[in-house]
Amino acid sequence: MEFKNTRDFARSLDKEDLLAKYKDEFIFPEVKGKKVIYFTGNSLGLQPKTAAKYVEEVMHNWAQLAVEGHFHSSKPWWDYHERFPGKLSKIVGAKPQEVTVMNTLTVNLHLLMVSFYRPVGKRVKIIVEEKAFPSDQYMIASQVRYHGLDPETAVVEVKKRPGEHHFRTEDILKTIEETGDECALILMGGVNYYSGQVLDMETITHAGHKIGAKVGWDLAHAAGNIELKLHEWGVDFAAWCSYKYMNSGPGNASGCFINEKYHGSREIPRFEGWWGHNKERRFLMEPAFQPEPDANAWQISNAPILALAPYLASVEMFDEVGMPALLEKRNKIVAYLEFILEEIGREVKGDFEIITPSSREERGTQLSVFLHGEGKQLFNYLMENGVITDWREPNVIRLAPAPFYCSFEDMYNFGQILKEGILK
Ligand SMILES: *Cc1c(COP(=O)(O)O)cnc(C)c1O
Repeated sequence: MEFKNTRDFARSLDKEDLLAKYKDEFIFPEVKGKKVIYFTGNSLGLQPKTAAKYVEEVMHNWAQLAVEGHFHSSKPWWDYHERFPGKLSKIVGAKPQEVTVMNTLTVNLHLLMVSFYRPVGKRVKIIVEEKAFPSDQYMIASQVRYHGLDPETAVVEVKKRPGEHHFRTEDILKTIEETGDECALILMGGVNYYSGQVLDMETITHAGHKIGAKVGWDLAHAAGNIELKLHEWGVDFAAWCSYKYMNSGPGNASGCFINEKYHGSREIPRFEGWWGHNKERRFLMEPAFQPEPDANAWQISNAPILALAPYLASVEMFDEVGMPALLEKRNKIVAYLEFILEEIGREVKGDFEIITPSSREERGTQLSVFLHGEGKQLFNYLMENGVITDWREPNVIRLAPAPFYCSFEDMYNFGQILKEGILK
């Protein structure tokens, strides 16, 4: 499609957009009396208007029923978390029994490493990407030390080539092959938080299995953003947070995927608690742990219902729209944003470089833009004028036009504000 950098053209794209009406289903902060152009759905998604109703429902049931609410709420609390897997599994390409919702992301990755990072003999190494999200780096190093090993030797980082912004699959595969039977685990971010690069999870998962390693994915930037086929790819485990593209609210619960081949397996150790115990017998308070037959066996504590409520509101919206429609709009709006950046770059002779891969297979919603010759004052100008983006040192802004609530006209308006900010 041939794009144009005009308001009329952007509006014509909005008119054809079947998801356009969803913009009204979210609450936008305002700057100077106008709704902002929100590019940070990759960091904290906007609040769906339905979220408060779901929270109020829990508050109301708690007030009216107190302890009886566990079984007699409009959505009983004792199995509230079971409302997620059916819908979430479609978002991540899993079987419903492979998905559960609990805790928060880094906590879940720790718990999943208890099950899937089992260093023995010389098979002790973990392959990660260099400059992984800091929490992942801390988590992995602390797990390695917990096993009495040294992160200096046990953590193997795949590096980008000098001067390049992306990881090359061939380099990742080479590291996997070279590490061979010393590799216990491969654990990487499926979508890189900094560059927006989507890794070839299928190929990497297969390569990891070929050398006898387990393969897990941190899907913080992937869930609700890109197409995932965790079951088909044979991934061992994965976890994601829900407050980025999934709009569940600050610091909210994490989803987990545990491949069905490990359900019921006694070879896989696990930290256990009563919410993972056989549901029918949970309240009989018996001494011996009987695991649930599915991913729910990894549950530990009774679920934080007030946190799950807005997440459920969001998951129901995802289910109504479906990933295919979101991905179709995503492709178009990201392409339009890229076009706008190039047009404005030409008009103002600006020197921006999009460091996100240009191919559709290797990127999702986010474009990371390196602003050569522009500084933080441009970022500040954008913020003051209602464009919410984020700044990453040394000179990168990340723009994620979430297809649920960003419009094509937002992209056009952003281009105009960017131009003013540069020419100022
Ligand atoms: C956002 C993000 C996290 C955040 O972890 P929490 O435990 O939810 O604070 C972790 N890893 C990656 C890759 C992220 O992008």
